[in-house]
Amino acid sequence: MPELRQNFFTKEWVIIATERAKRPEELATHRAAQTQPSFVESCPFCPGNESKTPPEVMRTPYGGEPWTVRVIPNKFAALSSDVQPVRSLQHLRRRVDGFGFHEVIVDSPDHAGFFPFLPDEHIASVLRVYRERYNALSRDRRVAHITIFKNHGLDAGASLQHPHSQLIATPVIPSQVRHRLYEALRHYDDVGECMFCHMVEREIGDETRIVCKSENFVAMEVFASPTPFATHIFPLRHMASFGDISDLEINDLARVLRTLLAKIYVGLENPDLNFTVRSGPAEYAGARHFHWYMSVIPRLTRVAGFELGSGMFINTVLPEAAAEFLRKVSVEKVLGAAAGK
Ligand SMILES: [Zn+2]
Ligand SMILES: [Zn+2]
Repeated sequence: MPELRQNFFTKEWVIIATERAKRPEELATHRAAQTQPSFVESCPFCPGNESKTPPEVMRTPYGGEPWTVRVIPNKFAALSSDVQPVRSLQHLRRRVDGFGFHEVIVDSPDHAGFFPFLPDEHIASVLRVYRERYNALSRDRRVAHITIFKNHGLDAGASLQHPHSQLIATPVIPSQVRHRLYEALRHYDDVGECMFCHMVEREIGDETRIVCKSENFVAMEVFASPTPFATHIFPLRHMASFGDISDLEINDLARVLRTLLAKIYVGLENPDLNFTVRSGPAEYAGARHFHWYMSVIPRLTRVAGFELGSGMFINTVLPEAAAEFLRKVSVEKVLGAAAGK
């Protein structure tokens, strides 16, 4: 029987279409294994081509390497830090001059360095760079919201193959985020506790949608997942802002994120995917009602007319089946290979 499920955070409904249900493995992309070279001479993000990018914002040196992670302004930035966010309202038309920051974080000098193949310590240094840029830009009073994200593969919007993440700081709060903030505040007002802590605790007790868990983080399938295999990673400690994550937690998150991405890579055969960090603003550090998390979305299906017309998604994979499938995918080989690098 098909079922409608409501997203606890947004109150949005999705249709879990068990009638047309797919077994999780049917969604595997069956791509021929493609080995990327470690270096591509024409790639602007490969070592030696640093002059092909705009002047760098920061880099982290490590061992004998000139750099391990680089941050640069996006050459084709969606927003510009050279203008001021001046607002205007003309009749019903509200606008703001296109102020913002759009940065690229080059994850590694290795052209083939997708997260599952990088050692945990390297991913931890990428996450520390995320935190540093997040906190630095959060201090700019003109910035209202920061999104950190990664596009992996053409269908996920990646135009350059070399593994990289991005950060966009906007002078406004996007409506999806605002909606979650409102709902979180409403829940806190009604129940007196963080709705994310509340849900995470119950999901851990239930176990059916948990993919993996560590001392500080849990990765789980979303109960009312709009798309197959949409997975969230939550810090177990209540934390409203990603900027508040400790070094110890970063090391732990590196392992959990890498394990999850490796399971998706192996189990679904390297699908295109996006991940994002959803966080309250930096000044939310002590807020009791919001809780940051990471969202990993494999791009296995396409958005069609019904989704566009109604805003309601049809998901053909039971989140519980997706969790069970991912739990069983063995990634020791992938994780072990990078550890030996
Ligand atoms: Zn490259
Ligand atoms: Zn919480």
